[in-house]
Order: sequence, then C-alpha cells, then structure tokens
Amino acid sequence: MAKYYITTPIYYVNDVPHIGHAYTTVAADVLARHHRRLGDDVFFLTGTDEHGAKIAEAATRHGVTPKAYVDEIVERFKSAWRALEISNDFFIRTSDPRHEAGVAAFLETLYNAGDIYKGVYEGLYCVGCEQFKTEEDLVNGLCPYHNLAPKWYSEENYFFRLSKYQDALLNALTDPSDPNHYLVNPPARLNEVLGKLRLGLTDVSISRASLTWGVPLPFDPNQVVYVWVDALLNYITAIGYPANPAEFHHYWPANLHLMAKDILWFHAILWPAMLLAAGLRPPREIFAHGFFTIGGQRMSKTLGNVIAPSDLVEKFGADAARYLLLTDFPFGTDGDVNLDGFVNRYNAELANDLGNLLNRTVSMVNRYLGSAVPAPGPAEAADQELKAMALAMFEQMDRAFAGLEFVAAADAVRAVVARANRYVEEMAPWKLARTDPARLATVLAYLAETERLIAVALWPFMPTISERMLDQLGANNILTPGWGGISPGTRVAEQPRPLFPRIETGASAHR
Ligand SMILES: [Zn+2]
Repeated sequence: MAKYYITTPIYYVNDVPHIGHAYTTVAADVLARHHRRLGDDVFFLTGTDEHGAKIAEAATRHGVTPKAYVDEIVERFKSAWRALEISNDFFIRTSDPRHEAGVAAFLETLYNAGDIYKGVYEGLYCVGCEQFKTEEDLVNGLCPYHNLAPKWYSEENYFFRLSKYQDALLNALTDPSDPNHYLVNPPARLNEVLGKLRLGLTDVSISRASLTWGVPLPFDPNQVVYVWVDALLNYITAIGYPANPAEFHHYWPANLHLMAKDILWFHAILWPAMLLAAGLRPPREIFAHGFFTIGGQRMSKTLGNVIAPSDLVEKFGADAARYLLLTDFPFGTDGDVNLDGFVNRYNAELANDLGNLLNRTVSMVNRYLGSAVPAPGPAEAADQELKAMALAMFEQMDRAFAGLEFVAAADAVRAVVARANRYVEEMAPWKLARTDPARLATVLAYLAETERLIAVALWPFMPTISERMLDQLGANNILTPGWGGISPGTRVAEQPRPLFPRIETGASAHR
C-alpha cells in the first residue's frame, strides 16, 4: 500500500474562511479521496496558523487574549470544512502544545548544527503578509497584496543561514537524480522560483524580540519563533515529529503541499532549506494554484464581494459547490468565479445532463421491468462502446488527478454522461418496450451499470451525491470501478428523487 501525505496550508486566523481557502481545501480533499479510492494509505492535513503580530494586534482590538481570539475563529474554519465534507485526517493548530514542542525541538537542532546565529535585522515588514519586504516587492511603496505601507523594523534577531543552501536547493530543484529532488509546479511557477533563487539568497530572520504570542526560542526564551517558520513546521509536527519517529518517517516526505501562489516562495525555498539543515528530505511536490477574481473584480472586504464557503453550500449544496468550484478553470491558472455562471453550469451539467440521466434510467427500470435491473443479453456495438468509454474514464481520471487537472478529470466524466444520454435517445427504450423486450433488458442493464461507474468516478468530487446515485440504483456502497457491480435482479429505488433540484436563474440575478 503506497502512502500519500497531502496538505493544505494552515490558514492564518486573522480572517474568517472564504472561497479562496475553500478552493485549496476542496482540491486537497478531492485528491485525498481519489488516493483513498486507489487504496493508498492517505494522510490529509489541514489546520490553522495562530501565532504572529497580526493575531496579537487583532486580539487586542477585540479586547480578548490571543488564545480566546483564535479559539473562536478556528471553530469557523472547522465548521466550514464540515459543511463542505472535507475529510481531513487531522486538524493541526499551531497553538497546540505538541506542535509548539516540535517547533522548539526543530530549532534546537538547527541551532546545534550551527545554522542559526544572532544578528540585527533592519528592514521593511508587512504585517499583512507577516513578511519582510524589499523595495522591489512594493508597488508605490505599498504591499501589493495588502495595499498597506510596510513598517520599518529594527531589532536583534536570530538568523537562519539560508544562503548556505542556495546551491543545494538549485540542484535539488533541477536535477532529478539528486537525492533531495523535489518538484515545484506548474512549470511557470518553478521558473519564477528558479529565477529568484539564482539572484542569490540572503539569510533570514527567524525570531521576534518584540512579540510574545508565539513559540519561545529554546536557546533564548526572550524571543519567539517567526510565525512563518512556526507555521511551516506544522507539516512535520502533525505526523509525529519528533516524539513519534515511526509515524513521522512513515509519512514524510509529504507527497504534495498545495497552496495559492502568493505563499509559494516560503514553501519552495525556505521550507526545503530548513529541512535540509535538519537532515530531512524536502517534500516531493509543491503545487501553487492561481488566484481568482469574483465576477471580474478582486475579492475584497471593501468591495463587499467576499464569498463565504457557507454561501456556496446554501446555494448549491456541498457537493455541487465542490464540483463547480474546482472544475470552472484549470487549477494552476488564474480565473474568474461568477455565481451566475455557476447557476448555469449547475442547471445544465448537473441537473439536466447528470440528474436527468439517472432519473430516466431508474424510472424506466421501474416502468418496464418491475424495478429489477435485468440481466443483459448479447451486446451490440453501441453497448460495447458505452462500456469501453465508462471503463476508460477511470484511466483518464487517474492521469488527470496525477497532474492536478481537475477540469480534465471532470471532462472524462462529462464525456461518458453525454454518451449515455445519446445512447438513451438512440436506443429509445420506450420503443423497445413494445417491440423487443430482450434488447430493452440489455440497454437498461448497460445504462444502470454505466451510471454506477459515473457515480463511482464522481465520488472524490461529490461524495454524498455519489452515494445517493448508488442508492437509487440499488448499488449501495458498491464503489468499485470494474464493470459488473450491479447484479441482475438488483432493485432500484421505486421513487427516483432529483439529485440536483433546479435553481431559478432569476433568483441569482437579484442576488
Ligand atoms: Zn502584505
């Protein structure tokens, strides 16, 4: 059994969950479910990043302690993920004492290895990013991500010898035979990282003297660990570093770290360098997805166009929300999310094409065959073609998921749904019911089994809908991909229920 360790970033709790967090988390969930279906030993991690200056400031503004403040926000993330059927195996919080102990142990290792030294940091710092900025990072003197002027910052800090790892990182990124080889994807993102890496690395400050909301440095308790270093370490503390080495070495290195492109640099450079310094392997792959606009505009609180995960779940149901979000534009690129477009796709792809196909099939098995799926007779060319397409769909999806091509994975299913709908029209079972009962049995048996396979294929995207489809086909929990999961005589639901109640388009226009 292959192990598959996949992570989302841990989300910074200065903000409540929005559609951007949901995008990354649903993507990770679909991949985790896909790998579970393949039989892999999956560990799927998400969580929250809870330390740092911005959280301390927000807690003060709200008149509560940082811990009380984060406890409240964390619950909102957890309930958003429950509502979206996120199947994470663990939810890590950086305020968890086990994580804090792991952070301290890791920094002690780096300190003892001579990779941490004391120095003075002076520079610009964006509290929004919790990140030092150079003049080149700014647009008109402001952080482009936050439209905030960074603060001048000067204090005695501890530094990590990042510069020492420049050649090792370059080699690990570009030479597949390097024992520490790791992937950064999509390729355009790798090129950006390599371009910046080749300009040279400077050592980075990894502690703060003026902050108490964080993990104290084991070798100088007057300083706390820089929030990004603290956060990145969640990927190893969550799987038992350092207290449980057996579990840790079972899952590490991570197979995939997923994130949005604005936090790629930390993951692609700082994190692997920290790991190398501790004698550990970098993750196998880091993938940065794009940003999206909402109806053509940047999502922002000021514009009031922030979409919460619960908005999507209320409107479309959790499963359709997951599916629509992930299959609207290719995962690695920027895109635009348009709720009216979602409504149109929901009605066309889900309610019409997929929902009606099942509804018609179940109704015909009820009407013509007394609710029992028949044994098929000899197959004709059209039956063979439908079966071949349904079986090939899984190979196409495997390839698509391996490249994080969610749109291509959905296309593989859409093609089979379209072919099955055409098959119904061409075979016209309502005519066969009068003229050729043997042929009718074969056609409905092929349709039922094809729809079972469609339900199985869709399970990573739409777990509940998939199970409802199987229930209506009488194939409860038969989630295996091969042909022939529904035995003849299986009884379908006597009352087919719509999988996707239609959404009125007018309602959406007035939103
Ligand atoms: Zn910023």
